[in-house]
Amino acid sequence: MISVDEALEIVASHISALDPEDVSFELACGRLLREDVASDTDLPPFPRSAVDGFALRAADVSGTPATLEIIGEVPAGSFPSFQIGAGEAAQIMTGAPVPDGADAVQMVEQTRVDADRVEVRERVEAGQNIAPRGSEVANGAVVLREGTRLDPATIAVAATVGKTSLRVGRRPEVAVIATGDELVHPTTTPAPGQIRNSNGFSLVAQCEQVGATAHYLGVATDDEASLTQLIRAGLEKDVLLLSGGVSMGRFDLVEPVLEREGVEILFESVALKPGKPLVFGRTNDGTLVFGLPGNPVSTMVTFELFVRTALARLEGAPSPSRPYVTASLSGPLRNRGRRRAFLPGWLSVGTDGRLVAHPITTRGSGDIVAFAKANALVVSGEDDDIHATGDVVQVYPLDSFFHREDRWQNPANPR
Ligand code: AMP
Ligand code: MG
Repeated sequence: MISVDEALEIVASHISALDPEDVSFELACGRLLREDVASDTDLPPFPRSAVDGFALRAADVSGTPATLEIIGEVPAGSFPSFQIGAGEAAQIMTGAPVPDGADAVQMVEQTRVDADRVEVRERVEAGQNIAPRGSEVANGAVVLREGTRLDPATIAVAATVGKTSLRVGRRPEVAVIATGDELVHPTTTPAPGQIRNSNGFSLVAQCEQVGATAHYLGVATDDEASLTQLIRAGLEKDVLLLSGGVSMGRFDLVEPVLEREGVEILFESVALKPGKPLVFGRTNDGTLVFGLPGNPVSTMVTFELFVRTALARLEGAPSPSRPYVTASLSGPLRNRGRRRAFLPGWLSVGTDGRLVAHPITTRGSGDIVAFAKANALVVSGEDDDIHATGDVVQVYPLDSFFHREDRWQNPANPR
């Protein structure tokens, strides 16, 4: 059995990024940028007025009120052909180019127009309300760095510099197989001894949440023929995920079938709770395979910690792992056994702005309903046993940490 950190290291060292592809900037939100992007212009491209008002010479309004002659108008989108001389002003709109000769703009609220004259009531400093050409970014400067996860703000940057085609990491194609003779489709009422398949669907949803393309191949029964057939199809993709069939039971056949189909097993057991039986391997042509433990919470947690990281690395993310935060515990926590535990918790922001982690009562790695109330995983180290109320612990925030719509926000035990 290896440690979580060793396992993550093995995963990272066996992945190289997929070839990039070019997509329109309009479709690139969420994708991983695989090139540096430079500005094709100074920003702003001309001295830009920050307000609606009058472009003038600051020296002319050092004593106020001061009356200036209006010699022209500069709407946004036009470019002034005149210059501002002593005693002169031009009406100017937000975002319009400031005419030569003017060194400040006074906002319209501080002025009063009378025919072709404007009375300026308040002085302005030279430079006030003007963004000089190139003051934000110089032509040629890098504005987006390779390895950035594109979001609305970075899409705006691409638009601003006219980079309408972006080189991004290809979305990984992921095959998903659930295993188990006991599984029936959610539309079916289970017969005695049967349960509904949930992992097949949580895995597809997790893939989609991280921007990978999931291909759900269905359920393999616990026999070699069924597993072989689906595993062969799954190995055609960039990544193959299986749930179940990786522990020590007589019908846990995933690992031997993977090996027979040419998968080199790189580890099969990690000191992790939940999720000790966790298989990771790779084929000669680079397909990554994760045999995830079948308990629904274990499946989700091991995806979160290992598969998410692997998928981001395939896209070309330089440091794909999610940051941990620290929080103080609102109640005690126990970690029996010498494995690193990732326990369902509710992370809330206390009145002092600090994070508080509330342990969620759970029956363990089969208890998907308790897990679905969590917005974070509370980490308990290999050597930890008991954490007391108020102890500071490491916490892994889940995506749902940012969801205010969650129904389980009452930190008192939601059960
Ligand atoms: P296994 O890893 O195959 O031994 O399964 C461990 C536990 O997880 C058993 O209780 C299984 O019934 C359950 N399980 C396995 N696969 C699924 C699945 N796709 N959906 C829900 N539960 C599952
Ligand atoms: Mg099974």
